[in-house]
Amino acid sequence: MMADDASIQAIGGGARVSVLLPLPLAGPYDYLVPEGMTLRRGEFVVVPLGPRELLGVVWGKGTEDVDEAKLKPVVERLEEAPSLPEAVLGFVDWVATYTLSPPGAVLRMAMSVPAALMPPRPAIGYRFARMPEPGERVTPQRRRVTELLAGGVAWLPSDLAREAGVGAGVLKAMEKDGLIERVELPSAPPFEAPDVDRPGRILSDDQAAAAAELRQRLAEGVFSVTLLDGVTGSGKTEVYFEAVAECVRRGRQALVLLPEIALSAEWLGRFETRFGMRPAVWHSDLTQTERRTAWRAIAEGKAPVVVGARSALFLPYPDLGLIVVDEEHDPAFKQEDGVHYHARDMAVVRARLGRFPIVLSSATPSLESHVNETTGRYRRLHLPDRHAGAQLPEIRAIDLRREKPASQRFLSPPLVQALAETLAAGEQSLLFLNRRGYAPLTLCRGCGNRLACPNCSTWLVEHRLAGRLQCHHCGHSARRPSVCASCGAEDAFAACGPGVERLAEELLAVLPEARFAVMTSDTIGGPAQAEELVRSIRDGEVDVVIGTQMVAKGHNFPKLTLVGVVDADLGLEGGDLRAAERTYQLLHQVAGRAGRHVRPGRVLLQTWQPENRVMAALASGDRDRFLAVEAAEREAAGMPPYGRLVGLVISSHDQQVADTVARALAKSAPRGEGIQVLGPAPAPLALLRGRHRRRLLLKADRATRVQPIVAEWLARVKIPGTARVQVDVDPYSFL
Ligand code: ADP
Ligand code: ZN
Repeated sequence: MMADDASIQAIGGGARVSVLLPLPLAGPYDYLVPEGMTLRRGEFVVVPLGPRELLGVVWGKGTEDVDEAKLKPVVERLEEAPSLPEAVLGFVDWVATYTLSPPGAVLRMAMSVPAALMPPRPAIGYRFARMPEPGERVTPQRRRVTELLAGGVAWLPSDLAREAGVGAGVLKAMEKDGLIERVELPSAPPFEAPDVDRPGRILSDDQAAAAAELRQRLAEGVFSVTLLDGVTGSGKTEVYFEAVAECVRRGRQALVLLPEIALSAEWLGRFETRFGMRPAVWHSDLTQTERRTAWRAIAEGKAPVVVGARSALFLPYPDLGLIVVDEEHDPAFKQEDGVHYHARDMAVVRARLGRFPIVLSSATPSLESHVNETTGRYRRLHLPDRHAGAQLPEIRAIDLRREKPASQRFLSPPLVQALAETLAAGEQSLLFLNRRGYAPLTLCRGCGNRLACPNCSTWLVEHRLAGRLQCHHCGHSARRPSVCASCGAEDAFAACGPGVERLAEELLAVLPEARFAVMTSDTIGGPAQAEELVRSIRDGEVDVVIGTQMVAKGHNFPKLTLVGVVDADLGLEGGDLRAAERTYQLLHQVAGRAGRHVRPGRVLLQTWQPENRVMAALASGDRDRFLAVEAAEREAAGMPPYGRLVGLVISSHDQQVADTVARALAKSAPRGEGIQVLGPAPAPLALLRGRHRRRLLLKADRATRVQPIVAEWLARVKIPGTARVQVDVDPYSFL
């Protein structure tokens, strides 16, 4: 993007400057530049807002809209803060416009660590100053300190005290006597440079060709989108590592976005093997110090490679030269609170603004990317085979109508048999069920009363290990009641349906000798626990892994040869626009965990509808046909990616207010060719955290720019303070 005048020109004393604050305001505010101060676009400043002083970013020259007498002066320029690069500023504006969010809300994501704006305080150490003079008191303790420092190297006080076996008081006293002195210790760069010339793995011909293409894209140094489309285990990671290496060789920063960074220990290990160092990591589990170090290093261009979750897209890279979006189809890339954005789509925008290549990697590309590839907007690199001749697993559907599990059981006879065979062969199995807890529903056998969340329109999920019933939406938690509140029956509650905990119980009954591990967000608190569990599985300490979608992502378990999908139909419920696509992607990915190495794998899908085209496509392996049918259906219905959607969720603690606002919005809905407004209707989650929710959906054809239409629409309706309207451009959730 062209740097506008303001970014080159200094804005001097006496002039007006517009400053964007990291707050959900309509836009930047104008201030006066005090005499003697010069500002440039992207610099951090402190400005007054009402009684407060806030941190903001110089957005450009001020406008002439406000009476000069009313303008307040800028308080201070943060001299030691790195400024936000032009590409980041442009990106903030772009994302705000596209997602219909206040620009300040987007800016807040780019300046999420205010502490990083101050330079890190240098560490202080002690070094040798002088020898004790004759007659000066020399205790054994003091002598040990002097001996340690005599080598000339400065020590951290804590290390010195420990090594010399003295207390901090001794050091202070010696400092006072002038025997030792304080110095600033040089700080090591927080992130080493990756060793790009370390020999990587020897690539297969297909891999080498794909890597060469990607290097070519980097050499061109212009915007391009490449879809790296390869079956699970084909070595996509190895291939895009070569693109990362090339980017670093060219002296620019590379960003890799992963959907589930908390589980990325294995990925980091592979990166370290390839490059001899660990990259900067960015996700929500970092400590404040880690965040500060990473943010500052990235802003100063001292973090050559960054791997992170979607929010890493908003970091202040001064010279980004490549983005890789791994598992680009993953729904975790869509952020659904605050600024609603899709990180894959916004990553493409970031690459376009920064004029560099982006790689989208997947074994099951999203329909969006698939269509962009077939229409020639994206290039495709194809890796059709697993590495080293490993076979893709054989996938078979088990028809639950014919192969019924025993009463109150969930594993069908063929699956139980396969588990037993796998155990006998000394191999591992994975039981996949995307349901946390023990049972998704608890009901009274006396009257049919179902235990629901008081704040949400959902059933409470029993977590037997924790001894609680939980709402997965608002976190409400309660003990299981002994008496039914509606009929008074005692101890009549029954668990309905399985969660992973219940499967573990069943496994214990049918294969008591199998060692199992449950892998869900309930059993894994953080990256360290995940790493430990993954290690124990790889080391063969576990025979059967029972897990939710957490296990589906990225892992390589060499001895895993059987995948059992307990309820393949689960994701098809609910009639979501992408239900079939997502189910296909998720089950394909889970299936891809089987037989990634020498031993062939097999996958059993338990389903009530084996004829469903998702099951049929999985069993036949005909992905492209599945995508073609899916695409044709979406096109006929004018649905994304052929049409555009904007979701509006109106919510209020007061049901009447929610209804009134929803009706008012419906009444003033935009009309016009190619535009349709559906609703209002109660949201499927009609009650969430105590708020009543109503939905409207704007549907438009592809050519329509929906943002101005929606902005004008919202401006026509007065929204009372007791209601909230949430706008979701390109919605992925319809709950
Ligand atoms: P994908 O990302 O396509 O699922 P990976 O990059 O994870 O595939 O590769 C699958 C497995 O094969 C990994 O264990 C990886 O280390 C191994 N592998 C892939 N390519 C090579 C290669 N050229 N040489 C050695 N091992 C490879
Ligand atoms: Zn709830």
